[in-house]
Amino acid sequence: MAARPTPYLDDLNPAQREAVERLDGPVLMLAGAGTGKTKALTARIVHLLMTGRARPNEILAVTFTNKAAREMKTRVGRMLGQPAEGMPWLGTFHSICVKLLRRHAELVDLKSNFTILDTDDQLRLLKQLVQAADIDDKRWPARLLANIIDGWKNKALTPDKLPSAEAGAYNHRGPELYAQYQTRLRELNAVDFGDLLLHMVTIFQTHADVLEQYQRWFRYVLVDEYQDTNIAQYLWLRLLAGGHRNICCVGDDDQSIYGWRGAEVGNILRFEKDFPGAHVVRLEQNYRSTPHILAAASNVIRGNEGRLGKELWTDAQEGEKVRLIGHWDGEEEARWIGEEIEAMQGGTRGVRPVSLDEMAILVRAAHQMRAFEDRFLTIGLPYRVIGGPRFYERMEIRDAMAYFRLVTSPEDDLAFERIVNTPKRGLGDKAQQAIRAVARENGVSLVEGARIAVENGQIKGKGGKALQELIDGLARWAALTRGPRIEFDDDTVIDDGAAPMQFAAPEVSHIELAQIILDESGYTAMWQNDKTPEAPGRLENLKELVNQLDNFENLQGFLEHVSLVMDNEQDSDGAKVSIMTLHAAKGLEFPAVFLPGWEDGLFPSQRSMDESGLKGLEEERRLAYVGITRAEEVCTISFAANRRVFGQWQNALPSRFIDELPEDHVEVLTPPGLYGGGLSTPGIESRAAAADGYNSPGWKRLQARQGQHGLSQPRESRSTVIDLNAVASFTLGERVFHQKFGYGQVIGIEGDKVEVDFDKAGLKKVVARFLSAKDD
Ligand code: ATP
Ligand code: MG
Repeated sequence: MAARPTPYLDDLNPAQREAVERLDGPVLMLAGAGTGKTKALTARIVHLLMTGRARPNEILAVTFTNKAAREMKTRVGRMLGQPAEGMPWLGTFHSICVKLLRRHAELVDLKSNFTILDTDDQLRLLKQLVQAADIDDKRWPARLLANIIDGWKNKALTPDKLPSAEAGAYNHRGPELYAQYQTRLRELNAVDFGDLLLHMVTIFQTHADVLEQYQRWFRYVLVDEYQDTNIAQYLWLRLLAGGHRNICCVGDDDQSIYGWRGAEVGNILRFEKDFPGAHVVRLEQNYRSTPHILAAASNVIRGNEGRLGKELWTDAQEGEKVRLIGHWDGEEEARWIGEEIEAMQGGTRGVRPVSLDEMAILVRAAHQMRAFEDRFLTIGLPYRVIGGPRFYERMEIRDAMAYFRLVTSPEDDLAFERIVNTPKRGLGDKAQQAIRAVARENGVSLVEGARIAVENGQIKGKGGKALQELIDGLARWAALTRGPRIEFDDDTVIDDGAAPMQFAAPEVSHIELAQIILDESGYTAMWQNDKTPEAPGRLENLKELVNQLDNFENLQGFLEHVSLVMDNEQDSDGAKVSIMTLHAAKGLEFPAVFLPGWEDGLFPSQRSMDESGLKGLEEERRLAYVGITRAEEVCTISFAANRRVFGQWQNALPSRFIDELPEDHVEVLTPPGLYGGGLSTPGIESRAAAADGYNSPGWKRLQARQGQHGLSQPRESRSTVIDLNAVASFTLGERVFHQKFGYGQVIGIEGDKVEVDFDKAGLKKVVARFLSAKDD
């Protein structure tokens, strides 16, 4: 047989080639970040196909995320350079197990059309069982039981296999409730996520014929990110590969970051024991990052004990040092990063223009994202949030905005339809149809139609009463957007043709008003009473929404802003900055990476710091390693002295991981006017003191820690920073134009707000972004 061309092998190094070409028997590829493990694994699939060693459906490849699976599919397709007859089984453990379990559902007493419960349903079911068992779910929350059961499932423990050590779980009721839960799931013909693997392991363990069938079928098994498999996944793999032993796992013990979800880094360590004679390939050349970035990552991870220990090298050009910068607060951090991104994109920073697609912001906690989303919406910087909806697309935010819209414009029928029965007011389809009919007949808005329908007695009873309350509420809230009516004398002359100012300034701020609307409408209570796991997060988002109004003059200004920026987003094809959690960034790479929020208590997390022992802290450190090693060319680490977390200001010290960065490979940046005045948050002195500690030229955090810093005045005013950036184009006295208020003259600049004396509308503070310069 003539040798086929093998371009997919040609760009591999010898160690990678070895891992690709050794097709038979167990292979473990154990290597640090960016050494081409995933690349080699992909080439191995192609090699199996090209050499005719396996047909596509004889290959099973497991990836950690669906996204990774899709990418691998695309790459395999490209490397093959020719259409293969079908594609290998390529997916996550869950997606593969769903397919298999549908075929064999009856073996675990399910029907093949079983439903998969989400965490909401799971919790609801458990709660019913807990209540029926007469357990005080205040003391013993169902959520705790859910975690315990998940933990058992991750270890492949069915109720009958629980070891006696588990008997005390959940106040000694855990095992019995677990058994009941599993029975109930079967009655419902349902499974939860953990069951997908658990049932498959059970089937393989109890039905030798089925196992053999799959062992024959999947002749080659490949696994990426092996360090993050849990015991159930591990058992499943071991069973599946038990016959032919053609299993190739790739992983990095330093990147094990799912211990909290039951992942066992020990799986990697015992691979050689389970598969005697396993061939272990170590890769040491990193192809992803510059030497400075690599050195920084290596130095941080060195702080962990019990590592397998790997040295990485690269022959990439030296590039830039890792950049470290401290900020006054989280908003300042977001602002600065936004500017950096624009400068990089425009090519005014760094050696080349960097596309937005090549940049990512990796956060430790999801709540950090909002500051970036806000900032990017304000400056019109396109971004995408990976692993969750963007802030303004979240259900609770849309609901809240619908209320705000109705208050500022009662004709907004779409908004009315959205919230008329949210929270539940007993207004079903029929009532809503009646409202629409009345509105149509009378040629009025839905709100007005609703009013008429109640008045006519078309909507009665509980629903009618609730509807009346909503209508009254809307009128009351709308009145609160204005101050008291100003009575004019009959002979008042309006000489400039503009409408007379009919109302004085409102008595409640728009921020208070927003809170009033959410509370009085029952919307806040709806989520407070909701016991699903998502509810607390939704309440936090609502708080964030209200906080955010601070940046606007009134509700209307805010709504305009959001609709403008959301509109801009319609052309969603262009390049975008990615925002995601560090966990979601596993396996990915970007030329420019921002790592914000390196503060003790955030990163490492408070929980890991409180824990006795080093386990949690070491997992956080691995997360830091994962973060830094995502960067190819520029890696920027930042921290803030103050951060608003769910509406509360907190101050923090720079992360202990910052101490672990090697000085020779780090450049400390200090932007002008870093620690500004003008902030009036409580505890300002102590924060200023901490900030001054970071501000000193040497290795800052040590000083802050040792309390060697004294109190000092902020060096430059906060607005100086902003003058340089956001509103540099406006000067005092300049003529400007605002979409809503028309022409005026700048009389003051404060932060990103500009005070303008409008010709018609009078004195107003507006957001600089909505102004344009006019020399009319
Ligand atoms: P991680 O541990 O972060 O998942 P990894 O070991 O899976 O990293 P890959 O993502 O496969 O690493 O590769 C990192 C980068 O290096 C990719 O851009 C890849 O294309 C490139 N690369 C890998 N091997 C080589 C090689 N032999 N020659 C040139 N580039 C390579
Ligand atoms: Mg990889």
